[in-house]
Amino acid sequence: MVHVIDHPLVQHKLSLMRMKGTSTSAFRGLLAEISMLLAYEVTRDLPTHSVSIETPLARTNARMIDGKKLVLISIMRAGAGILDGMLRVLPGARVGHVGLYRDAGTLAAVEYYFKMPRAMADRDAIVVDPMLATGNSAVAAVDRLKDTRPRSITFACLVTCPEGLANFHGRHPDVPVYTAAIDSHLDGHGYIVPGLGDAGDRLFGTK
Ligand code: URA
Repeated sequence: MVHVIDHPLVQHKLSLMRMKGTSTSAFRGLLAEISMLLAYEVTRDLPTHSVSIETPLARTNARMIDGKKLVLISIMRAGAGILDGMLRVLPGARVGHVGLYRDAGTLAAVEYYFKMPRAMADRDAIVVDPMLATGNSAVAAVDRLKDTRPRSITFACLVTCPEGLANFHGRHPDVPVYTAAIDSHLDGHGYIVPGLGDAGDRLFGTK
């Protein structure tokens, strides 16, 4: 399933991020802001249970999220930008990292790092990467993540395209994707068009 988050705040911030004149610091700030809004949508259906609490006025029943803490899984390196924003609204979340680079010739994802917290079976995992482009990195990250058997897996990105979604859901039809946009297509270098360029370079100012 694909959820497109077409909230005006998200769309406005994404449009600013797409503009080629947007500075590194503005891009970084916008990515953090959008990621807080993505986190809000992605966590909408988390199971909750009732607990008895005391307010300054009375005892009452209130809802809390079930189970162990969430785990946010950042696909390095651009995932760090989404992680930063999501942690502001999910400050207790645990964090996993998957390091993947794209082989320039084949565009295949090659893993160089994988580190997850303990007790994954009790955790809901949210995998984050701003761009779901070819889908190869997302497929490889979720392939590895499934070995740790988390309670659930969700994928969150900013921008994707039909090719990336088809590749990802061809391999992982059980993993819902949350995105702010489904763009037109991929170019011959694996970039999303119109997209926003290289998210990692724009986030870290490395171009
Ligand atoms: N990665 C990016 O950063 N941008 C794209 O358009 C595709 C992959």
